[in-house]
Amino acid sequence: MSAAAAGRDPLESTRFEAVIGLEVHVQLLTRTKMFCRCEARFGTEANALTCPVCLGLPGSLPCINRRAVESTVRVGLAFGSEIPLLTKFDRKSYFYPDLPKGYQISQKDDPICKGGRVEFFVDGEIRVARLVRIHLEEDAGKNIHVEGRPESWVDLNRAGTPLMEVVSEPDLRTPREAGDYMRMLRQVMLYLGVSDCNMEEGSLRCDCNVSTRLRGASHLETRTEIKNLNSFLNVEKALEHEIARQIRLRETGREAEIVQETRLYDPDRGETRSMRGKEEAHDYRYFPEPDLAPLVFSPEWIDGLRATLPELPLVRLGRFQEDLGLSAYHADQLVRDKEIADYFERCVESYRQPQSVGNWVLNALREELRSRGVGIEDIGVAPERFAELVRAVDDGAVSTQKARDVLRAMADSGRPAAELIREMGVEQISDDSFLRGVVQDVIAAHPGPVEDVRRGKRNSINFLVGQVMRRTKGQANPAMAMSLIDELIGSPPAE
Ligand code: ADP
Ligand code: MG
Ligand code: ZN
Repeated sequence: MSAAAAGRDPLESTRFEAVIGLEVHVQLLTRTKMFCRCEARFGTEANALTCPVCLGLPGSLPCINRRAVESTVRVGLAFGSEIPLLTKFDRKSYFYPDLPKGYQISQKDDPICKGGRVEFFVDGEIRVARLVRIHLEEDAGKNIHVEGRPESWVDLNRAGTPLMEVVSEPDLRTPREAGDYMRMLRQVMLYLGVSDCNMEEGSLRCDCNVSTRLRGASHLETRTEIKNLNSFLNVEKALEHEIARQIRLRETGREAEIVQETRLYDPDRGETRSMRGKEEAHDYRYFPEPDLAPLVFSPEWIDGLRATLPELPLVRLGRFQEDLGLSAYHADQLVRDKEIADYFERCVESYRQPQSVGNWVLNALREELRSRGVGIEDIGVAPERFAELVRAVDDGAVSTQKARDVLRAMADSGRPAAELIREMGVEQISDDSFLRGVVQDVIAAHPGPVEDVRRGKRNSINFLVGQVMRRTKGQANPAMAMSLIDELIGSPPAE
């Protein structure tokens, strides 16, 4: 079995290293398309969302979507890119049926953002990939090929929707790094609210450029490009296969067969295949888009957008660890989803126990969201109320187990925890003097097991705890019951 097939790092124990640069396409969330007033929306009747501009009819004129430009600038600011004060659009000519104009409006020499850097984690260690640029263009429509028939259709609803492209320097070295880089891009886009990043719907897709060279070399070797990957897993798998393929060629003296070409990843067969070579490479005949004047930004306008940036995931992660004392793991889990992290913070505002609140958010709450198939904004439990439930558990007023039932009831009814705990009869008895009395009764009634516990047979203590639970209809605090039994029997401490 090859290293790639085993899902391991294909570079492990070879003389070679990989060099990877990603071109990530992000569909921006805007109400209308990039250059016309058609709605930018997914999942409507084919060609319902079209007009003369996005159909490419002669005489129609484009008009730039302000929101898309603002989103791109905000992304650039989040990654520390330079935002030049002048930006312009260019025509990129190629013919394909899903591109009715015969050219795509894109940006060549004057992108909205230049440079920048993405910091991300790989196995808990921070890595950095520099950015070349971030530019704005329009998406193409979709060709639909009817299976088994010589018939194709085109749906232009997506044609002309805003597409942002984030181009990295070839700074990534392993498939894992590439995957984690892309995960961080997604997180930041979601924090900024510029895209839904829905990968099944293709809102975030990636072209992977990859070459291989002797470990430690500094020159760049010939690269191949794997087009249109739309999941983290596929990015990592495709790169593993392609890197393994290139290394096999290098190790057998066939490196001349590594040529600059576009390849497609076939997940079913676990291989990449050549799609088109360099000799068929397009000549895009770029030229400045004559129908659009260059955009000139003022520094004040850019500062205004900077002021709208939220706290970004990595900064928040550090704050959760340092100020709230969370473990790196918990902080990371919470920060991943902005809505979850926001909710968590509001809970902590009303009950300042980040550890237990974090645990309850990550476990019980997330499970409840999953089983209901809703997002946190639809669960109907306000953070203050959720915090009350966690406090009730910490105070021993309800057991961990019953608290989950209470949470379900809270989501069903929208009522507060304390009320439901009482009404459901799941109040946990943590009253010392009351429990002491029950434990004394149990000890008196079961001399045999008591003797066993005295002699160090720890199993018998569970029996006694069980008796306490029975006499209290399951409401005794089991941890308290156990320590009271130990105390009153004077049993040797548990090993
Ligand atoms: P193009 O515009 O033809 O796609 P670019 O030079 O702009 O080519 O590069 C596109 C992407 O390819 C960038 O992300 C860049 O980092 C990456 N790249 C360029 N050269 C290499 C190489 N030799 N190995 C791996 N990645 C590369
Ligand atoms: Mg490319
Ligand atoms: Zn239109």
